[in-house]
Amino acid sequence: KLSVRLATVAKYVTEGARIADIGSDHAYLPCYLAKNVGIRFAVAGEVAVGPYQSAERNVLSEGLSDIISVRMGDGLEVIQPGEVDCITIAGMGGTLIKNILENGKNKLDSVNRLVLQPNLSAISIRKWFLANNWELVAEEIIEEDGKIYEVLIGEKGDPYKPYRTNVDMGLLLGPFLVKKQDAVFRKKWAAEKKNWQRIYGALEGAAKTAETNEKKQELINKMKLVEEALENEK
Ligand code: SAM
Repeated sequence: KLSVRLATVAKYVTEGARIADIGSDHAYLPCYLAKNVGIRFAVAGEVAVGPYQSAERNVLSEGLSDIISVRMGDGLEVIQPGEVDCITIAGMGGTLIKNILENGKNKLDSVNRLVLQPNLSAISIRKWFLANNWELVAEEIIEEDGKIYEVLIGEKGDPYKPYRTNVDMGLLLGPFLVKKQDAVFRKKWAAEKKNWQRIYGALEGAAKTAETNEKKQELINKMKLVEEALENEK
């Protein structure tokens, strides 16, 4: 059975899709999609030998080698232009996901949906979407085993559409998530704010350099955005 985290990613992959799951590790996600969602084809990409072998093993033992092609390589270099219409990337930092997309831009022409699950720094993905004409069309936030995860879905479109009001707040917290105000969302940002307050306190005790002043200002700005976002009750 798939984790809640990967099941949330799977929700956004549709029947008949041709997908690439980058950083697939054990290939649980493409195996699940092949068995339960009726995808046409999947590439399971892995940059590391151990995970690559584990993906190969699982795909073989599930009898899914006709549908899933396991490939070794860095990011989107494992796919040919035009081969897939949906890319999933889960379980990595947002900066790494952003770099994989940036370095593989030339493979995105045929892709109409990105389903991304950053462990950290979803903001880097939202910023990349904005700069590259991908429209954020949906967001989810979930908690599993005491960890909080976000899932971002992008399609080609008007990248500013979700940010009609406060762009900075939307980029940091997620425009759909701010609107929804899930309990998990409120919990995540209350904890982040508390942590920033602690860091701010430590900086207050440190020598007052231009650098610490700048860091303090950054923290104040972020804390204001979070306060404002959490005031927006449903
Ligand atoms: N996607 C799976 C999931 O969400 O459960 C596995 C997540 S695992 C923590 C991250 C995987 O990404 C590792 O197996 C790692 O080898 C792979 N990875 C990291 N950087 C990569 C890159 N540039 N290209 C392909 N795979 C990469």
